[in-house]
Amino acid sequence: MRKISLLVLSILLGFSAFSQKIKDATVLKSAASIEEKVIKWRRHFHENPELGNREFKTAEKIAEHLKSLGMEVKTGIAYTGVVGILKGGKPGPVVGLRADIDALPVTERVDVPFASKVKSEYNGISSGIMHACGHDTHIAILMGVAEVLSGMKKDLKGTVKFIFQPAEEGAPQGEEGGAELMVKEGVLKSPDVEAIFGLHISAGTPVGQINYKSEGIMAAADRFVIKVKGKQTHGSRPWGGVDPITVSSQIITGLNNIVARQTELTKEAAVISVGLIRGGIRNNIIPEEVEMIGTIRTLDTDMQNKVHDKIRLTATKIAESVGATAEVDIQIGYPVTYNDPALTAKMLPSLQKASSSVVNINPITGAEDFSFYAKEVPGLYFFIGGLPADVKPEDASAHHTPDFYIDESGMRTGVKALLFLTLDYMNKK
Ligand SMILES: [Zn+2]
Ligand SMILES: [Zn+2]
Repeated sequence: MRKISLLVLSILLGFSAFSQKIKDATVLKSAASIEEKVIKWRRHFHENPELGNREFKTAEKIAEHLKSLGMEVKTGIAYTGVVGILKGGKPGPVVGLRADIDALPVTERVDVPFASKVKSEYNGISSGIMHACGHDTHIAILMGVAEVLSGMKKDLKGTVKFIFQPAEEGAPQGEEGGAELMVKEGVLKSPDVEAIFGLHISAGTPVGQINYKSEGIMAAADRFVIKVKGKQTHGSRPWGGVDPITVSSQIITGLNNIVARQTELTKEAAVISVGLIRGGIRNNIIPEEVEMIGTIRTLDTDMQNKVHDKIRLTATKIAESVGATAEVDIQIGYPVTYNDPALTAKMLPSLQKASSSVVNINPITGAEDFSFYAKEVPGLYFFIGGLPADVKPEDASAHHTPDFYIDESGMRTGVKALLFLTLDYMNKK
């Protein structure tokens, strides 16, 4: 009897190890067999790009695909967002997978048969429209992942929420949009998402590579406007007034000193840049007012708050010291894209199954609205390579430019990564 139960146990153990192995192999096989479709979808979206909050046809095609897979589909979330809910055959957590779907006002210069010829108006200026950040690849990858996971439905231990989000690059003037609005409209609720995964293709990272980082991977991006008010006077007699131009130059030095002298840079990076300075009309008039506009990038919420306080203090006190005033307006933008350390550690082996080259990177001072989801629930955001093997990273065209180019074979790594992350997360619960 004992002998038999040991035998049964060893068969069961052997079988479970065997079936686990089969599962990984199945995932790899599925990622390979869906690749052709993923490339076809990507080319379709690349040729038919749409701007943020105007992704009508894009959303239609996504919804049609998700419906054809038999899942529950919600449309019109945050203007053009689409959400598909795939309920697995077994109980388990709700995993969120997110892709952004918007294009940019950039006129494509890449010579491919599926290049965009679409033109539109952006803030009243006519421009070509292009998927110049690679969001077309994100849509195609997630559509592929949706198809593969739908085929595994009865064995899925939980639910997957496929979140196709508009306007990551920002909503048109005067409109809300993107991840913030999706969250506001309840995209993470009923069923409640327990963990969320998202990726971005990178034109400067070799195909097959995955870049990740625990904690702050992308910066919070806040905008500031400083209005310095002095007293207008003749340029020949500055002592007769209060010169806001000189005060502004002192404030800029003060802002640089916040980063250089008052911020613990060994903990996290921080950036303050003045991008616009405007004041005055001619050589011999000292004007009344100068306006400065700039950006603040931080990777830690505590540091972000401290930097904001210091900007207010520095600007107002420097102005006060010479009898001027400074009004400081800080407009909060995208939060820090924060990768939950426990989730990152737990899921790293899944990324390593998807790629033999998983690199722990330095933080990026760009911003990303995936941060709004990761503020609500534990999230993991990472990059996949799209750089052709024969191109050096320094020769890759930057995102948001007319020559932006992605090697489509990089998408397979994205499909594999999202599949492994979803299945492993469900299995580890
Ligand atoms: Zn972008
Ligand atoms: Zn992007």
